[in-house]
Amino acid sequence: MRKRIEQLEQESAELEPSESRREELNRQAIQYAERFLARLPEMKTFEPDAGRSAALEKAFSEEGEGLAILLETIDSAVIHEGINAASGGHMGYIPGGGIYPAALGDYLADVTNRYSGVAFASPGSAKMEQQLVRWMADLVGYPAKAGGDLTSGGSIANLSAIVAARETMGIRARDIENSCIYLTEDAHHCVDKALRAAGLDECIKRRVPMDELFRMDVQAFQQMLEQDLDSGLRPWLIIASAGTTDTGAIDPIEELASLAEKHELWLHVDAAYGGFFLLCEEGRQVLKGLSRAHSIVLDPHKGMFLPYGSGAVLVRDVQWLANSQSYQADYMQDATAGSVSYSPADLSLELSRPFRGMRFWLPLKLFGVAPFRAALSEKIWLSRYFYEQLDRTAGWEVGPYPALSVVSFRYVPENADADKFNRRLAEQVHADGKVFISTTLINGHFALRLAVLHFRTHLNHVDYLLNLLHRLVR
Ligand SMILES: *Cc1c(COP(=O)(O)O)cnc(C)c1O
Repeated sequence: MRKRIEQLEQESAELEPSESRREELNRQAIQYAERFLARLPEMKTFEPDAGRSAALEKAFSEEGEGLAILLETIDSAVIHEGINAASGGHMGYIPGGGIYPAALGDYLADVTNRYSGVAFASPGSAKMEQQLVRWMADLVGYPAKAGGDLTSGGSIANLSAIVAARETMGIRARDIENSCIYLTEDAHHCVDKALRAAGLDECIKRRVPMDELFRMDVQAFQQMLEQDLDSGLRPWLIIASAGTTDTGAIDPIEELASLAEKHELWLHVDAAYGGFFLLCEEGRQVLKGLSRAHSIVLDPHKGMFLPYGSGAVLVRDVQWLANSQSYQADYMQDATAGSVSYSPADLSLELSRPFRGMRFWLPLKLFGVAPFRAALSEKIWLSRYFYEQLDRTAGWEVGPYPALSVVSFRYVPENADADKFNRRLAEQVHADGKVFISTTLINGHFALRLAVLHFRTHLNHVDYLLNLLHRLVR
């Protein structure tokens, strides 16, 4: 038996490359990453799907291949087609980030592979994440008893908050048909997915009308609320957005908080896109009242420019999250939280999970907060600049002045169908590919949409887009 075991050890020895082999692998991987970054300014931001990913259909085999060949496969099959989310030219949807030290954080987290779900297994990683949650809680103005969890993104963070709301508000299966949830048409679609996953799809969902700036209309909400109360229904949850994905509008959080307090409703604020603008003065002026929300979602892979895979849920009282996620298992009896009040697993649907804190903590410590503040402020000013440049040029129609960093706009041709014209304009911007913007419907009309949030987006990208648009409409 020993012999057989020793033989298997030998056959699997490749799983632990030697130091010199690691050096060689590192060198090649870093060389590729450096080459990518060097090429980035010249690369397109959008390339249509030409089927290059078909190279990945090759079956997995018993024998390994060289890293050089695999890097070539990655480069040709993955890195070019679609949206280049690492590019500053990405000004569509809500752009993500990818600041470099976050990759080093992931690298170190993966090599050391601390078990970050449970504080007993890794008090240090639990503390690191708790500090990050505390930093975000301070940012939104939450008290000491607040808490939260680092998730994979905004969708899961919204789900977690909605489950905490459901449990804390005591919504049981039998209550669902009579319970009312209030949100606008512009709430992110992941909220609907979260409500369904949380078993709340059969609640009465009231789509509250929006005002001319695409914010929840408080008066309309109040009327709906009073009518529902009069009818003996049970209003319990308001889902507001602090920066809608579509227009960047910020719902009137202060007024909604007052109504939530008066009628004992849970106020959830989806600030996945807008929340981190609290770091800059321009953002603080428009993001008021977040501290009064019961739960908040932030997306560090948007506003903190981290690579994809970082969301956050915050609750004003950590107990709400803990009560909705607590668990008991005999094999976890050693796992007391120790130096932190709660392990991440006590506040999350997950047990084993990536050590998400490291990719966030390392850049924040390495750079300090100041450059993040400046970058977020820059994004706001870039969108204002774009808005003003178009607004003063004949033929262009702009949507609301950007509350944060989203601008919707369209060209109104003299003798042609505006919707058709703008659809074609969008196609031509995509065909150029140097920059990427997305499209939407504003009051039923086809519109183009600029969203500035990438840390690499600067004046040169916005100027390029402006010149391109002017050239194309001519
Ligand atoms: C991006 C976004 C989401 C979804 O977050 P993911 O990180 O993509 O899962 C939810 N709400 C808003 C407002 C967003 O901008």
